[in-house]
Amino acid sequence: MCQHQPPCPTAESADRESARLVAPHPEQGWSLLCNGVVLFEDTGELLPDGKIIAPHRPLGPDQVMTAA
Ligand SMILES: [Zn+2]
Repeated sequence: MCQHQPPCPTAESADRESARLVAPHPEQGWSLLCNGVVLFEDTGELLPDGKIIAPHRPLGPDQVMTAA
């Protein structure tokens, strides 16, 4: 479970993308977040319960994958 301070938002939270990266794989185009969400470089998401979130942000120079 999350041991960060402040704690990461849960996978059910609308703010789930702001959880810490625990396993970034930019070369494969995805990253695992602390809350179990897999975040893809096109901003699509795979939740721990198997739910898929469609990409919702255009790619740009400030895309999430470069933050690792
Ligand atoms: Zn965390």
